[in-house]
Amino acid sequence: MAAEITVTVNGASRTVPAGTRVREVFEGKAGRDVVAARVNGRLTDLSRPLEEDATVEIVAADSPDGIDIIRHSTAHLMAQAVQTLFPGTQVTIGPTIEDGFFYDFAPPHPFTVEDLPKIEQKMRELAKADLKVERIEVARTDAIATFERMGEHYKVEILKGIPEERVSIYKQGEWMDLCRGPHVPSTRYIRAFKLTSVAGAYWRGDEHNAMLSRIYGTSFARKEALEDHLKMLELARERDHRRIGREMGLFLFDPVSPGSPFFLPKGAIIYNLLVDYMRRLYRRYGFDEVITPQIFKNDLWHTSGHWDNFRENMFLTSDHEGETEEVDSSPEGWHKGYAVKPMNCPGHTFVYRADKRSYRDLPLRIADFGRLHRAERSGALHGLTRVRTMAQDDAHIFCAPEQVAAEIDSNLQMVREVYTALGFDRLEFKIATMPAEHLGTLELWHESEAMLGKALDRNGMAWEVNPGEGAFYGPKIEIYVPDALKRKWQLATIQLDYNMPERFDLTYVTSAGSEARPVMIHRAILGSLERFIGVLIEHTGGALPFWLAPEQVRVLSLSEKVETYAAEIAALLTGEGFRAAADVRNEKLGFKVREAELAKVPFMVVVGEREAAARTVSVRRHGQSAIAATLAAAPKSEAMPLQALVEKLKAEPTPA
Ligand SMILES: [Zn+2]
Ligand SMILES: [Zn+2]
Repeated sequence: MAAEITVTVNGASRTVPAGTRVREVFEGKAGRDVVAARVNGRLTDLSRPLEEDATVEIVAADSPDGIDIIRHSTAHLMAQAVQTLFPGTQVTIGPTIEDGFFYDFAPPHPFTVEDLPKIEQKMRELAKADLKVERIEVARTDAIATFERMGEHYKVEILKGIPEERVSIYKQGEWMDLCRGPHVPSTRYIRAFKLTSVAGAYWRGDEHNAMLSRIYGTSFARKEALEDHLKMLELARERDHRRIGREMGLFLFDPVSPGSPFFLPKGAIIYNLLVDYMRRLYRRYGFDEVITPQIFKNDLWHTSGHWDNFRENMFLTSDHEGETEEVDSSPEGWHKGYAVKPMNCPGHTFVYRADKRSYRDLPLRIADFGRLHRAERSGALHGLTRVRTMAQDDAHIFCAPEQVAAEIDSNLQMVREVYTALGFDRLEFKIATMPAEHLGTLELWHESEAMLGKALDRNGMAWEVNPGEGAFYGPKIEIYVPDALKRKWQLATIQLDYNMPERFDLTYVTSAGSEARPVMIHRAILGSLERFIGVLIEHTGGALPFWLAPEQVRVLSLSEKVETYAAEIAALLTGEGFRAAADVRNEKLGFKVREAELAKVPFMVVVGEREAAARTVSVRRHGQSAIAATLAAAPKSEAMPLQALVEKLKAEPTPA
């Protein structure tokens, strides 16, 4: 080992004795705002000694890596508190997840939410105690003996399953856990946390194993960030699309078909309006719509590769064992050997093959709102955002390699147009690159990744790389849509595919008269319509843009005497093409207003005897979707002649 090493911090190099601790090279600049370091690119504890030349960067508490380290350290703190408070509890694993962390325990009795305040209190005590977090390296066999002595059978099982001969243990006070780290230097670095919920979870996610008790929590570098996050969580609960969907009468779910929404008349209006909108765009952007089969023989899925790569997610009947002939040839076997399509792509290759294609036919843009089915696990289902049946604004573009760039440009433009029209003011782009398992040459991958990058640059769209997350057949542009609750949804995608044309032997005749393979671009803008509607409801809190509102105007009568006038207005507006209804029930106005508010009707038109006599109306706009909007801040009403109301509604924006 060299006696002296060179460390580079912030671009400045100097020599220090080998064995100098990471925190010392920052010369006391650290404090609680620095939780760890990157040493030659690797995340490292501040207490580790430096043994070789290194570039050392700080990991700030509020950086993405810093927050992740704080969250995992908070999981340790929680486990320490739990084992102090509930003797006999075994620990298992405690990873970080998006927005927080969890830890799975094997306690004598499952935890309930009532236990959480007590655990939080103990965590605060332990944090205040400023316990040093120490990393100890031991032989794996010694670690097994130690955890066996402690009665930590799950840790022993984990240890027996890892290949390394030496493992690290993190110790704070009397408590320790097997862990790769890194961690914050002491418990005092954990300053802003909250335990959020409890759940049951099987050991290693397998239902044949013991049921464990999981506690979820979150943690941030600062109190303000935690408070903001908790506010967003609260708002997300209020805006849960499953609740709003019920209140607005949009859709329902029933155990008779799990994960499959029943769209009620009002929900179907939204659904169909989105489809109409996309169809208008298809005409402008040169897409042709097709309607393709729902079920296909398994032969297709063997050819496409879905049988090998996606079968777990498909509703299918198995092939006949060992039969080589046509799958449905036997008299009793006509219904065997089919699968319901989970994607449209393989079917579209048959549309392409319907004719001998020449370069003059390309690009061929085929769109399909076909219903898709995917066998999602029961536990993964969630309202409209995770379903088993869906339709996408799906399209496949078959083009010559030299046409790819222009097609991507056009689709990026479409993405921007659609999301702007739907009230999402910001989009984020990532290029998902070559995964470990892939088809095609390195050269082709680099070339096509670079092409996607250039396309985004050309269109003035900033992007990041999502390394290794491309599909096995090609790279893709992932488009993330941040909603009003600061959550990011991946809805739109543009994917390059050189593989499927190969598998289905698609060709075209070039201008030189030779045969060539087309490139296939898979793309969806809204993605699954079900999921999009779920996201849109939570983004807007149900206050949809006027053109998408299932009920645009509700006329509320003040008394029986104006029933006819109210009905006349509703009929007039319906005649003008608006979705309007009259509420002439013999109920108090306050009650009717509240119901219209819950149904998120954009315009309420109130009429009494005065309005009837003057042939005017009193109009109220539903509180717009601003996060701060509350019922208390209900908008004032505005009196106007009937014809002025019609003009006002006509002036509401509708996308082209
Ligand atoms: Zn750990
Ligand atoms: Zn596709």
